[in-house]
Amino acid sequence: MISQYNIHIKGLVQGVGFRPFVYRLATDMHLHGYVDNRNDGVFVMIQATPSQKDDFVKGLTTHKPDVAEIETVTVLEKPVSKPLPDFFIAPSREVDNHITRISPDIAVCDECLQDLISQPHRIRYPFINCTHCGPRFSIINALPYDRPGTTMSVFRMCPECEAEYTDVRDRRFHAQPIACNHCGPHYHLFMKNGYETVDYEEILSRMAAVLRQGGVVALKGLGGFNLICNAENEKAICRLREIKKRYKKPFAVMFPDVPTLSHYLNILPLEKEIVSSWRRPIVLLEEKQKIGTGINDGYKTVGAMLPYLPVHYHLFASSELKALVMTSGNRGDNPILTDNDAALSDLLREVDLFVEHNRDISNRVDDSIVQVVGEQPRIIRRSRGFTPEPLSLKFDTEGILALGAERVSMFALGKDKEIILSQYIGDLKNRETYLFYREALDKFCLLFRFTPRYLVCDAHPDYFSTQLALQLAQRFQIPLLRVQHHHAHAAAVMAEYGLTEDVIAVCLDGTGYGDDGCIWGGEIFRCNQSEYRRIAHLPYVPLPGGDAAAKSPWRMAVSYLKSIYGSKADYPETFIERLGESHIRQIEMLIEKGVNTPLTSSTGRLFDAVASLLGICDENTYQAEAVALLEQIAENGISRCYPINSDNPLDLRSLFDGILKDYRLSVPVSEIASVFHNTLSAMLLNIIIQKVKTERLTTVVLSGGVFQNKRLTNLLIKQLANRKISYYLSSRIPCNDGAIAVGQLYIAALKKRG
Ligand code: ZN
Ligand code: ZN
Ligand code: FE
Repeated sequence: MISQYNIHIKGLVQGVGFRPFVYRLATDMHLHGYVDNRNDGVFVMIQATPSQKDDFVKGLTTHKPDVAEIETVTVLEKPVSKPLPDFFIAPSREVDNHITRISPDIAVCDECLQDLISQPHRIRYPFINCTHCGPRFSIINALPYDRPGTTMSVFRMCPECEAEYTDVRDRRFHAQPIACNHCGPHYHLFMKNGYETVDYEEILSRMAAVLRQGGVVALKGLGGFNLICNAENEKAICRLREIKKRYKKPFAVMFPDVPTLSHYLNILPLEKEIVSSWRRPIVLLEEKQKIGTGINDGYKTVGAMLPYLPVHYHLFASSELKALVMTSGNRGDNPILTDNDAALSDLLREVDLFVEHNRDISNRVDDSIVQVVGEQPRIIRRSRGFTPEPLSLKFDTEGILALGAERVSMFALGKDKEIILSQYIGDLKNRETYLFYREALDKFCLLFRFTPRYLVCDAHPDYFSTQLALQLAQRFQIPLLRVQHHHAHAAAVMAEYGLTEDVIAVCLDGTGYGDDGCIWGGEIFRCNQSEYRRIAHLPYVPLPGGDAAAKSPWRMAVSYLKSIYGSKADYPETFIERLGESHIRQIEMLIEKGVNTPLTSSTGRLFDAVASLLGICDENTYQAEAVALLEQIAENGISRCYPINSDNPLDLRSLFDGILKDYRLSVPVSEIASVFHNTLSAMLLNIIIQKVKTERLTTVVLSGGVFQNKRLTNLLIKQLANRKISYYLSSRIPCNDGAIAVGQLYIAALKKRG
């Protein structure tokens, strides 16, 4: 008995070759009907027997394309209206304001790499792509995802591409960015002397020569420009640092393949899987053999990635280099450049070669960063290959706009039952970055047909995101909810794992505006989705000079010693030598008089103080430098701890006693750093055990940027697991302030519902 089945598939099913896949599945089964793309998903109608229908639905999930993700499949049985002659692909249709997912950008696939050698019209064509790979989010202007809605709209397909585009049996059937040597985008090289060329082979050989000679190349990539140099050439790295005005922060390195990467770095199977996945993020890996001086001074880890564009493969092949520094094309703290003219005027005079292409970037995306902690991938920076993949919730979020934090800013939209998180944006205090934030916000609203009806932002009155929220609330006359920073941190983890019960939340970060006007950052909460109670925190110490203290770890060293020992503060001799007695005295005076010295419980500042006392870092040249260096210097295989006050596990006195004593006894700094991590982890474990008992709770949530510290996190989660305390730590969203918008949205969704 043949019925008609209306099948509605939601999830990441557009722009990933889903319709041709459905077509092949249906025709292989000799079913009649059709498939079409709608803005709320993919719709399939088949005329089939019940058992054929079951096989078909099963086939949808078992044979789907790699990148596709099926969220829901709903099947509605209807009597056959009129028999259909065959199975076909119907034109896209707009249904309503429900939109379906947009695919993140996908690294070039193996089949396309093969086509670069064998397909006559695509021999070495660097913009090759197919339904399984290529640009997506970075080129989309509007939904539905069709060529006119992308920055490929200006390129007219040649007859050959058009034939593939319309042939349902072809891997490029409806591949929106389809292009070839005859009709697609191309690279364009500029030199300082005015020489230009669009000849790809010449561009490649010139780039290869410059890189081999230690020069710096600016190359337009997928989500923005990159600056590239030979990772094994110290001089080249120095020059690149000069150009970027980035003197110390480690650079990411691209390797041609996994075997070469494994020569320099240790890599676990899961890390290998992530680094070579279609998302191709940067993965933080341990260095086995030094790559080049100046890449990651003071670090044991390197951010490593593999090629994701055809030009990357070609560049390695032509240059025969084994490792390339691949960093964002920008200067200082500005966002990555995407516009050809702006990049040309900014970078041409700085670099040795400038190479752009004529496919516009609609959405700027940086390389994403992931590390593996506790056998799970933990994303640190979420952008290319991930954005705009949503997070699904069990309840409605429609109309909520969460504006996030400030330093690592990202915003989030509530759509249906999903949270759509923006790409990584950066520090809003930088004007260019703030403009990027505004532009991205406008684009997301347009792209996802989103009108804010409910706003949520941080409680910090001075954040640019808070200021914007206030303006938007005025302009649209809509409600605004303000959420405490660390509550948002905890809620972000709860959102990722769908937690609704009360939890113990351990929120450790650099700064967050506290309810008492102090700067929080070492917080233990009892909380759920709607409320929180601060049940413990690191002891308050003065933050001498306010925000300036975060740039100068040595000020925190003074602050801690003064707070703990008062006038008996006994600074290490080397510390006094480096900073000078009068500088130290100045800070002491500031603290004594209470001038511009708010109180803080920040964990980041505790790391700062220790790093400076040990002579590791007195001034941060980039965010959280001292914190990172203290982790990196710590030695493995040391298990001892400084004594912990069991009545008051967060008391820091014996920690500082121990550090100062060891330092005077000339215990190696690497060992002290290790003992510091052990002690902090043990302190946290103690307070967690205490609170789990007194609050009668069983679930612990860990959040805040400090959990990017792999050493501390590994120590703590191992202990929690040993004691059978269940913990949650974010994996698909960052634990740093990039998570704040997600947490804000989660809290607002409940308020809105209630
Ligand atoms: Zn492909
Ligand atoms: Zn073509
Ligand atoms: Fe934070």
